[in-house]
Amino acid sequence: MDRTLILLKPDSIKGKFCGKVISRFEEAGFLIRGCKMMKLDAKILREHYAHVADKPFYPEIEKFMSSTPVLAMVIEAENAVDKVRDMLGVTDSKKAAAGTLRAMFGTDVMVNVAHASDSKETAAKEVVRFFKKEELFEY
Ligand code: ADP
Repeated sequence: MDRTLILLKPDSIKGKFCGKVISRFEEAGFLIRGCKMMKLDAKILREHYAHVADKPFYPEIEKFMSSTPVLAMVIEAENAVDKVRDMLGVTDSKKAAAGTLRAMFGTDVMVNVAHASDSKETAAKEVVRFFKKEELFEY
């Protein structure tokens, strides 16, 4: 079983479709191990988006990602990282395959429903970045 970090972005919060996205994960067999609402500050966003922090569009990402709290989750399944990324679709919502969450709910390349870890190694780092040990549950 693998774990992956999800951030339901401000468009999911403002659009009130967090529940629909979470339902899709549950229907696909994922277990929720942790879940909380968080307001992301510039420091954590810069760390989380270090791979795009030098891009000209980064200030827009920071503004967008801090425009409402996000819903942070750790979910678990076999092959969790690839499974979630397949369910989400490619970064640009307009190019995402039919039936993916970004095709259904996303707006564009920045406003795209959710973040999901892109590898097992990244997932391990991101889970620790957003969750304390006692915020994750075995049951
Ligand atoms: P993903 O979230 O699909 O793993 P990336 O890691 O490449 O995508 O980018 C991180 C986030 O930065 C994206 O989810 C999106 O919100 C934003 N982003 C990526 N590329 C662009 C772009 N060209 N313009 C605006 N925002 C972008």
